[in-house]
Amino acid sequence: MKSTPHVAVVGAGAFGGWTALQLVERGARVTLLDAWGPGNSRASSGGETRIMRGTYGPDQPYTALAARALKLWGKYERRWKRQFLHRTGVLWMVSSRDDAYERGSLAELRQAGIKFQELSASQMRKRWPQINFTDVHWGIYEPECGYLDARESCQAVLHAFLGQGGAYRQVAVLNHGLEDAPLSGLALSDGSRLKADRYVFACGPWLGNLFPETLGDVIRSTKQDIFFFGPAAGDSRFTDAHLPVWGDHLSSGRGGRFFYGIPGSDHRGFKVADDTRGTAFDPNYGERVVSPATLKRVREYVAFRFPAMKDAPLIETRVCQYEQTADSDFIVDRHPRMENVWLLGGGSGHGFKHGPALGKMMAEAILGDRELDKIWRLQRF
Ligand SMILES: Cc1cc2nc3c(=O)[nH]c(=O)nc-3n(C[C@H](O)[C@H](O)[C@H](O)COP(=O)(O)OP(=O)(O)OC[C@H]3O[C@@H](n4cnc5c(N)ncnc54)[C@H](O)[C@@H]3O)c2cc1C
Repeated sequence: MKSTPHVAVVGAGAFGGWTALQLVERGARVTLLDAWGPGNSRASSGGETRIMRGTYGPDQPYTALAARALKLWGKYERRWKRQFLHRTGVLWMVSSRDDAYERGSLAELRQAGIKFQELSASQMRKRWPQINFTDVHWGIYEPECGYLDARESCQAVLHAFLGQGGAYRQVAVLNHGLEDAPLSGLALSDGSRLKADRYVFACGPWLGNLFPETLGDVIRSTKQDIFFFGPAAGDSRFTDAHLPVWGDHLSSGRGGRFFYGIPGSDHRGFKVADDTRGTAFDPNYGERVVSPATLKRVREYVAFRFPAMKDAPLIETRVCQYEQTADSDFIVDRHPRMENVWLLGGGSGHGFKHGPALGKMMAEAILGDRELDKIWRLQRF
């Protein structure tokens, strides 16, 4: 009979939380540790919402992963009788003449079984008159996607994990000797030590600090400013009742940047962000204040694409960080010198939606039931 391993999972964000849950569901003994709690305000999984989409360009693993995640989000929603995915649809606007990314996405969506529609500019104009479609040649609409509750779903995952018999401790793992093979245990901020058979580190933007030798140059933490604008009282055109989640890759003539947004939800504002990678950001001590230059750029964009929102006041802001790898691909691998230590991270601004599928994949790998995909190995750097 196989003995039950004790797995320590460090980090209760979208990656670690789902991994811990899927491990206990498979019978492992799991201790989950987090310095500040699931979806805390410093974590990359913090804040209210994240986009769930399948459009990802050609030849990549993420559309298929998103399709698996989509099914799992649905499964857990039914199991827990709670909604996390708000199926507003996702609209991807194509402005650039070079639309290889979007054209290449279609076959991937088809193959993964994620529903989509190709829309012409005139179809979009008719359907969403509150958007100015100048420069937009065509669009991809994913009707079964939308936005996910971020912090709330991380907390629900912890709740389910505890319900399945998992153990959780709100303590920090100190970066003492984590790369000294073999790992003999974890030194914790409360002065205690934790010894396990296998270890998973899903510490988002903190991974480089914990593993400076292996990940110090591999994960870069970048400052990302998020803005919430307030529509006029009673104007529901910019809420999730009337607008999908959207992504907008502007043509080079308009700066070529990628903007995205989530319509007003839960009585909060209309969320808009510029996806351009920001300056280096310290997830521990960085002050979470948005930059006036980014606000100016975002306001100009909003005035162009959503003209009725031109003078809408800024009602809330948030600063998060991407845990960015050089190729924007994740890191899902063992530590190069330690067979029983797994590193999971590098979400690079698009990891949240994949949490349940990545967690399942990790749990199967850690318990020895599958090999990890080569594309996410550290060797590539
Ligand atoms: C502004 C923004 C917008 C985004 N938009 C999207 C989107 O629309 N769709 C999408 O799919 N993804 C999106 N992402 C990316 C996604 O949110 C992240 O990739 C994902 O949440 C990363 O999860 P994680 O678990 O790896 O990291 P985190 O959520 O950062 O979790 C790491 C956890 O580890 C804990 N920790 C760190 N160090 C220690 C330690 N020493 N000891 C104990 N605990 C520790 C932290 O407290 C934290 O809770 C976005 C990210 C940002 C910042």
